[in-house]
Amino acid sequence: MPRRILAFILLLLSSAFASAQAAPPQAKTILLKAGRLLDVRTGKYIPNAGILVENAKIKEAGPLAQVQAHAPKDVVLIDLGAATLLPGLIDCHAHLLTAGSSISPQENIVNAVVGMSPTMRVLMGAGNAREDLEGGFTTVRVVGHSRIDGDVSLREAIYQGWVPGRRIQAAGRKLAPPGGQALHLNPAVADPIIDQEFLQVGSADDARRAVRENLLYGADLIKAVADADNRFITPEEMKAIVQEAHRAKVKVAVHATTVTGIQTAIDAGADSIEHGNDVTDEQLKTMREKGIFLDITELEFGGRMRAMIEKRQVLPPQLQQELKAYEQMEAKQTPARIGRILKSGVKFTIGSDMWFDYPDKTRGQATAIMFGALKELGMPSADVIRAATVNGADLLGWEDRIGVLEAGKFADIIAVSGDPLADVTELERVQFVMKGGEVVKNALPKK
Ligand SMILES: [Zn+2]
Repeated sequence: MPRRILAFILLLLSSAFASAQAAPPQAKTILLKAGRLLDVRTGKYIPNAGILVENAKIKEAGPLAQVQAHAPKDVVLIDLGAATLLPGLIDCHAHLLTAGSSISPQENIVNAVVGMSPTMRVLMGAGNAREDLEGGFTTVRVVGHSRIDGDVSLREAIYQGWVPGRRIQAAGRKLAPPGGQALHLNPAVADPIIDQEFLQVGSADDARRAVRENLLYGADLIKAVADADNRFITPEEMKAIVQEAHRAKVKVAVHATTVTGIQTAIDAGADSIEHGNDVTDEQLKTMREKGIFLDITELEFGGRMRAMIEKRQVLPPQLQQELKAYEQMEAKQTPARIGRILKSGVKFTIGSDMWFDYPDKTRGQATAIMFGALKELGMPSADVIRAATVNGADLLGWEDRIGVLEAGKFADIIAVSGDPLADVTELERVQFVMKGGEVVKNALPKK
């Protein structure tokens, strides 16, 4: 056996020993007590609920009397009064390391790349991750715009406990057609900027290499851009991406808004389609059959995007007109699409796609505006909540860890004071947050 490997094994053994010896004699057990608990799978409440938390995980959850009977004598009681307990929220489409203030994606991307050092950007991401956690989002998929490995670094910093924040799955750089996405730069000088945000794919070989390069930097998933303006990832390239990622047991999320882009992702066997604006009924049917998730992002619905921008910029009248026309078109098409998605039986999750610095809101509050949008779009509350919890866990491949309040799962728990089934925007006002058994926030009245 090579000496290096032997040394490594000895190191592992000794540290396992050390941590076993260092374990406290009795772990602190917490009993959370609340008016009710939402079983997100069934969409039904368990009244007078309790959750026992031990060693960062849920030991038991259910009716208080039953749970309390199994609590140790020295249990630490946290009484949340009449509040409703839910699993921590999952944002499946986030850009924590981006906080633009311009209406132009190009300007935001270029400013982020040339105006901020990579270190600065990770620290900004750390601020956003903390604010998201305080807003009730205990897990996130970061799907691009993090420079080369900013999201991976942030994930590690949170994991090590250096900074507080949500659990992260990081995608590293987006794989995109040559030229990247949302950029219209002079090709002669653009590459140094593009290469900070994207891995440019111009052939199936490029695609395989790009996947491996991202994995080398520590990505947990691959994010590919199927359509960027009138440029597309080819079917061969997409197949190579999915094949290479799946070989490494890593999932592929594909940005696709057009019928062509969506079809390329479906044919290649991607794991999720992000946005899916023009998805057809036929495509929804195939996605359902293949088990491909649709990750719904409706940040813009109801003029939310324009409202956000107008707080900061005076928009020229022509642009205002254009945005309003776009909103009117969306107001017709989007509720119909949501209705078709619900009817199709396709698996779906939700993502904020929040990449703006929303005036007067923390990142957590800004991320949560998607709940109001989905309510206006007519999605039933139970479906919204499932999308943001149990379905999200399923898409991330973390169904054994998070997404429901059950024994053995991480104690990622939130509470709201109202009735989230009656009004899902209660999730915009999360009052209590626990991540991995640690209380992050408790704004409920003291008992
Ligand atoms: Zn996005």
